[in-house]
Amino acid sequence: MSRRLRHVLQAVRFFRVGPAARVAIGLCSIILACLLALDLIWDVLPDDTRVVKQLRERTSELLAVQAAATLGSADTRALALVLRDTLARDPGIRSVAVRSADGRIVAQAGDHARHWVPPPDARSEIDHVRVPLQVQEGRWGDVEISFEPTGESSIAGWLREPRVFLVLMLTGFSFVFFTLYLRRVFHYLDPSAVIPERVRKAFDGFTEGVMVVDKTGRIVLANVTFRRWVEREGTSLYGRMIQSMPWLRRALPVDPRDHPWMRAMESGSAQRGDQLEFPLESGESVRTVVNCAPIQDANGAVRGCVVTFDDVTELERINTQLRAAMTDLEQSREQINRQNEELRLLAMRDALTGCFNRRALFEQFENLVAAAHAEDAPLCCIMTDIDYFKRINDTYGHAVGDRVLQVVARSLGGGLRDTDVLARYGGEEFCIALPGLGLDEAMGIAERLRSEIEARAGKGVRTVEGLVVTASFGVTQLTPDVFDAAELIDLADQALYRSKKAGRNRVTSAAAPVEVADTLAV
Ligand code: GH3
Ligand code: MG
Ligand code: MG
Repeated sequence: MSRRLRHVLQAVRFFRVGPAARVAIGLCSIILACLLALDLIWDVLPDDTRVVKQLRERTSELLAVQAAATLGSADTRALALVLRDTLARDPGIRSVAVRSADGRIVAQAGDHARHWVPPPDARSEIDHVRVPLQVQEGRWGDVEISFEPTGESSIAGWLREPRVFLVLMLTGFSFVFFTLYLRRVFHYLDPSAVIPERVRKAFDGFTEGVMVVDKTGRIVLANVTFRRWVEREGTSLYGRMIQSMPWLRRALPVDPRDHPWMRAMESGSAQRGDQLEFPLESGESVRTVVNCAPIQDANGAVRGCVVTFDDVTELERINTQLRAAMTDLEQSREQINRQNEELRLLAMRDALTGCFNRRALFEQFENLVAAAHAEDAPLCCIMTDIDYFKRINDTYGHAVGDRVLQVVARSLGGGLRDTDVLARYGGEEFCIALPGLGLDEAMGIAERLRSEIEARAGKGVRTVEGLVVTASFGVTQLTPDVFDAAELIDLADQALYRSKKAGRNRVTSAAAPVEVADTLAV
């Protein structure tokens, strides 16, 4: 590109139709209109034609006087001479003629028939002047003079006309003046001009969104990252009040004083950690953490605020995934714990009857024995065994035997407190721990359970008509010299054995005196 072309382009760019040029055009138009109005009223613009017209009229009148002087003689040669002389002396005249009142050309010089254009209403025009010839008798005729045309036919000639030239010059100079002046004014009014270009460029290098607002909240800088997030096509962030942004109004507290940059400027200290989410044009949104630092002048007065927006969208996404994974993990852990607990309970229970199994019985019984000793509280143990159970199995089958075991277990459990422990001790043998109860109370409970089984257990097995099920019981109480559960159970078992020997379907206390028959039987 040649240097000259470059200069031309620069000049064009300088006067591009920006806001300054647009306002300048408006102002020039107003000046032009005023000028024309003034000229219309007071003729303020220079006008050549008026002077020319006066000169021509004077020339024409002089000629008319000369012509009138020659009209006395009958010879028209003198008149023709005068006309030729006038034509020869004045190059501005194209033709001249004297016309009598009856319309006849009496004398002429130049090609009058071609040049003369009679003005309407018998009046003169600037290029065609008619002057009446007066003699003593009155009006004799007219002198007609056709002058060179005054109106310029070419553009260049038109431009050379003083009033056109003046108007064009005035308009041109006003336009240049106003454009330059307004550009300067706009530069001062332009909020973005507050930040030097090099600072702007430096901010554009940041990966965070950066925005600078003045103390009223007007945006004076928004770096490239931030603009890319929130600037919509055809709109500019510069000079806009930050609280006027729709995306911001949705994301922030209603009261502008609660906005982080306003808080920072109000308090004069940095504000960190506010979270803002902007909707992008793509429909997605960007999550940011906002940090605000107030800008202070040399006197410590707050002049604005630098606001940075850290994009944490990805981090937040990963955090959300992590939180979801943690929740899943927690749920799985809870499920495993629940299943473990179920397994633990299952491991403590007998599958057929649902009572505690032997291992669980000992675990709990040992604790009860220790607690009873520690608190000096009573603790009893009941052992019970279904009578002639082998016979039931043999007679009705194993399934009926199982059913009898379930029915007996339900009868035993139905009459107990929550603190009591019922366990299946062996095949058809059950053990009950009764914390806090004395021997008499335990004997009463055992008796109640025995009669309950006798009355209902057989009927509970619906598949066998008239089945009678009974059980024998042995009851014992913890004594200071008994220290473990197995020993207490053994004592109850011995009492149970005595019930068997005594004929079954009965309750025997370990404390009851041993009869001779029992002793012999053992
Ligand atoms: P006693 O009145 O002296 O107690 O006589 P018994 O027949 O009840 O005594 P014994 O100990 O001889 O019989 C117990 C029977 O219990 C033997 C066994 O087959 C049966 N048995 C043990 N466990 C189960 C079980 O889970 N289901 C069933 N159906 N029978 C069982
Ligand atoms: Mg038995
Ligand atoms: Mg048995």
